[in-house]
Amino acid sequence: MVLSFAGGVALPTRTDALKNSLLLQKVPQVMLPLGDAEEAYTLTVCEGEEVPVGGLVAKLGDGTPIYSSIPGVVTGVFEKDGMHYLSVERTEKEADLSPLPAREPESKRLEELTAEELLESIKTLGVLDLWSGDWLWRRLAPLVGKIRRVVVDTTDDSGWSFTEYRSSLRHPGEILGGIKVLLHLLGGSKAVLVVDNNRPKIKEAFSTMINDPALIVMAETEVKYPIRDETLYEALYIRHLKKGSTAESEGVLFLKAQTAAQLYTSLLTGIPQLTRTVTACGEGFGKNAVLDIPMGTPWKTVLEAALFKGGAYRTMVNSPLHGKQAEGAMDGRAEAVFASLPLTKKPSHCISCGRCAEVCPMRLTPYKSLTQHSYLSAKRLAAVCMDCGCCEYVCPANIPLREHIARHRNTK
Ligand code: SF4
Ligand code: SF4
Repeated sequence: MVLSFAGGVALPTRTDALKNSLLLQKVPQVMLPLGDAEEAYTLTVCEGEEVPVGGLVAKLGDGTPIYSSIPGVVTGVFEKDGMHYLSVERTEKEADLSPLPAREPESKRLEELTAEELLESIKTLGVLDLWSGDWLWRRLAPLVGKIRRVVVDTTDDSGWSFTEYRSSLRHPGEILGGIKVLLHLLGGSKAVLVVDNNRPKIKEAFSTMINDPALIVMAETEVKYPIRDETLYEALYIRHLKKGSTAESEGVLFLKAQTAAQLYTSLLTGIPQLTRTVTACGEGFGKNAVLDIPMGTPWKTVLEAALFKGGAYRTMVNSPLHGKQAEGAMDGRAEAVFASLPLTKKPSHCISCGRCAEVCPMRLTPYKSLTQHSYLSAKRLAAVCMDCGCCEYVCPANIPLREHIARHRNTK
């Protein structure tokens, strides 16, 4: 199967980060997310208490456990941008480096576990879902029996990121194992592995390992930025999502390869998720790298490891086209950070070339909507726009379209 994406842009590839893999073992502090103001939680440790790596530090209102990803001392709870975090600072003493003792190995094989047993295990193991940014069990629980296709995305939707690429190269067996667990849990009948046809090693790795091609099929694609639920659904089924529906309500679950691999590894070993992978890439870094970091590692530590040059360089989370600054704590969806100089081209007048509409993954007509002098059309544009930056990237007149759209998004 070959997928083709409407809209989006093919970004130039930078492979510098791929040459360096760094495991950040000695991060000085982690900020473990406890949720927003609505989320209830109970701390299981006191301020000043020492915790081992893998030690339980809190339970959220629905029982989701939070584990410390480094050995250290609990230094308190703080709030940032409406989210609560528990801070743990590394001690020189390194109380206990061994991870949480593995649970008793499952007496049953994974495929013999009931949906309730599997969900409980996934919850206990604190597996993060990179697609939604939430805990994986929370996303899966309402979907049991309602999913017909599991789609695992091994692509990085920017040519600058190698997070999924490296997970797929290192853990193809675990990804396939995770897919089988998900099909068993959710009741799906088929899985699709989306692979980037510019990265043939991935295809090779999976081709030799898929032993049930009727169950797991590969879909190749020329990757474009951005890949989201809507664009991937459209590429797979050659139709739009119905108004008001989501891929999940249509029976399709999208998941990142890294999440599928972690799910399987944690279930097999009984060790909770304590690390995640991010890529740091761009001319604003002295050392581009794919980094394995403890959960809750602040952006500051990631930027230091990649030798961020600061100054005029700006950081952009998950997209080299626009900038959510990498500061404070990392959110659950972050997979990459890019650093480059802001574009300083002088804007001129629109030449009505239509390129902004051509590349818009949401099928919007940015400039037309903004210049119709219709308040409603601009407001509608701003409501649907996902702020991906494709229109601005291709505009030959260098018009700051995102800025225009944001103005309408923020006005009442
Ligand atoms: S209008 Fe919004 S969604 Fe469409 S390309 Fe521009 S930024 Fe992306
Ligand atoms: S891409 Fe730029 S120049 Fe072309 S129609 Fe859109 S806003 Fe105008």
